[in-house]
Amino acid sequence: MICKYWGVHRVTARGSGLRGARLLIIFGLRVFYRTIGQGAFHCQRCGGDREYRHRAGRRWFTVFFIPVIPLNNVGEHVKCAVCGTRYRMGVLALPTAAQMQEALPAGMRAAATVILRAGGGSSAPARRRAIDAVRGAGLADYDDEALDADLSAAVMSADPAQDLASALNRLALQLAVPAREWFLADAVRIGLADGPLSDEERQAAQEIAAQLGMTPAQARGVISMTEEGAAA
Ligand SMILES: [Zn+2]
Repeated sequence: MICKYWGVHRVTARGSGLRGARLLIIFGLRVFYRTIGQGAFHCQRCGGDREYRHRAGRRWFTVFFIPVIPLNNVGEHVKCAVCGTRYRMGVLALPTAAQMQEALPAGMRAAATVILRAGGGSSAPARRRAIDAVRGAGLADYDDEALDADLSAAVMSADPAQDLASALNRLALQLAVPAREWFLADAVRIGLADGPLSDEERQAAQEIAAQLGMTPAQARGVISMTEEGAAA
């Protein structure tokens, strides 16, 4: 609660029994918050993942400190449940530490799946390279079976392009430009493991780059450098 303003008003009662008596009316304006949501976020003050409360505030006219008349809305904020720091709503767009840890292997799985679906899904060297890339991204127990599961999930998916977009957009938030290039090169090497890139594989690599926020020109540069590296 934030007390914005308060006042004391003296009135003279006109009732017969109270003739001449003076009443004090204490009135004021206060903002009351109510929780409209909660979840986990990364609190910059605490320096870690914490519970938050999503709160909406409304100003009230109070009489004797009791809210009587609702007035205007005064906005929403996110409040850390541990340290109490308030943040603008935009703080929820930042990934939590746990999400950051998951985003890299999840992004690599999505990228590997897209490349393998474009070609090489049954090629042993391409599959090996894909598994190594996902393990290198932090998922140490990723194996053939998990890869098959990802490939068939992609076949069953109603919108594979959207699946790729959501996995890579999350990742792009936390990857600096050189790391995006490294990530794309790793995905391209999966496509190169069974020979030169097909048009479909090249298209898939371009799509990965686009979802990471890279321009088509940047993507072509990384793809051709990776091809040269593989040919050398
Ligand atoms: Zn905190």
